[in-house]
Amino acid sequence: MLEVCDLKKTYVTGTFHKHRINAIDGVSFYIRKGETFGIVGESGCGKSTLGRCILRLTEPTEGRIIFDGTEISKLGRESMRKIRPRMQMIFQDPDSSLNPRKTIGKSIAEPLGIKGFQRKLIERKVAELARHVGLLPEHVDRYPHQLSGGQNQRAVLARAIALAPDFIVADEPTASLDVSVQAQILNLLKQLKKEYGLTMLFISHDLELMKHMCDRIAVMYMGKIIETAYTRDIFESPMHPFTCLLLEGHENDMEQENCIIDMKEGCCFYKYCPARSEKCSYKTPKPQEICSGHFVACHNVMSSINIRTN
Ligand code: ADP
Ligand code: MG
Repeated sequence: MLEVCDLKKTYVTGTFHKHRINAIDGVSFYIRKGETFGIVGESGCGKSTLGRCILRLTEPTEGRIIFDGTEISKLGRESMRKIRPRMQMIFQDPDSSLNPRKTIGKSIAEPLGIKGFQRKLIERKVAELARHVGLLPEHVDRYPHQLSGGQNQRAVLARAIALAPDFIVADEPTASLDVSVQAQILNLLKQLKKEYGLTMLFISHDLELMKHMCDRIAVMYMGKIIETAYTRDIFESPMHPFTCLLLEGHENDMEQENCIIDMKEGCCFYKYCPARSEKCSYKTPKPQEICSGHFVACHNVMSSINIRTN
């Protein structure tokens, strides 16, 4: 359904002293039809930028994005407008994705209106969609501030599926919600995925949460994917030293140093790696397939396994 090849996004900031931030630094992966592919990593490692670049909400600096056989990274505005309804994004905070001046019924109706459906049909479809995501008929005429965060996120989901898309990017879709509501929204997302046969890119900083959502997981660190594997393999036999630390909950021990500024050669995890060798300081490791479907970008994969079992 989706293939991303060597994607890069560099932000240039500062007025007097220009800084280059390689928010995404050569990322490649694919997502099969019907699959939920997870991107996990610390805050600031480039997850949201990646999600936005894939949908061309942010322009990538370099690289290719192929969606269902079409290279969309080079498409012009008009062609992109045609393909957009097939790809939807769900953001973390429903309050910022819903218009506070519109009833949520109006918000759900928005994509249907753009498609030029008749008013009566739109009304019927909105009622159907609202029911489908677990909202009550009276919720449809309320404004976002009159509903809970969970109810608003349900409305966001209803709007996202209104045009029956093929592909959804869910960027930390429950991060702004109470813990008690998170599971409900995740279950709803899972249910919709199944009913609509959706393919999904699921972004989160929470590995535990991904266990229940994803078929495969990619671990990001400083703009790079350092490990990709089936969900079970990530949890049962992690191979990259950073993934091991993430699983043990030690990632907070490391200084926050968001993104590489003017990237040098060498492994991005060199500074904190318990398994580093001299080579890691000057040679950037490329992802290698260690066993079926398990890719790791590390020169010392074996020693990191030893470190974990010791
Ligand atoms: P994540 O979603 O993993 O927390 P982001 O993709 O939001 O990470 O950010 C990755 C890096 O890019 C961060 O260092 C962030 O500060 C930087 N960044 C994100 N958006 C912009 C922007 N519009 N301009 C400049 N830097 C940005
Ligand atoms: Mg983010």
